[in-house]
Amino acid sequence: MERTFLMIKPDGVQRGLIGEIVTRFERKGLQLAAAKLTVVSRELAERHYAEHKGKGFYEPLLEFISSGPVFAMVWQGDNVIALSRALIGKTDALDALPGTIRSDFAVHTNFNLIHGSDSPANAEREIGIFFSPSELLDYEHTIQRWI
Ligand code: GDP
Ligand code: MG
Repeated sequence: MERTFLMIKPDGVQRGLIGEIVTRFERKGLQLAAAKLTVVSRELAERHYAEHKGKGFYEPLLEFISSGPVFAMVWQGDNVIALSRALIGKTDALDALPGTIRSDFAVHTNFNLIHGSDSPANAEREIGIFFSPSELLDYEHTIQRWI
């Protein structure tokens, strides 16, 4: 069982896509472990996107991610990191395959709706930035044996 950090960015919240996006992960058979609507401070944004420091899009990215509420989530399930990245689609909406979130709803790379952790190490790090251990719920999903 693996965990990942997913975050609907300010554009997804503003466009009213929280329900649509959450539904896709639920229908896949993944399990929600934690969720909250929150505003990302400059300090949290810097920690979250530390790996992109120095890149041309870094400053606009920090401003964008802090510009309004985000919907932060932890999801769990077998291979949830790779599976959720597949549901999200490639970073650039032009490269994202039809059926993915970014292909279906995004037009520009800088308004690509959702973040998903790209490795187990980053998942653990990002979950730790946004959630305390007590906020992560482990509960029985009786449907799990059918997934
Ligand atoms: P992700 O893991 O698919 O979200 O992509 P990255 O980790 O490479 O980049 C983080 C975020 O920075 C992306 O989701 C985009 O919002 C933004 N980003 C990445 N590359 C570019 C770029 O070339 N131009 C712009 N404007 N934004 C970018
Ligand atoms: Mg990334």
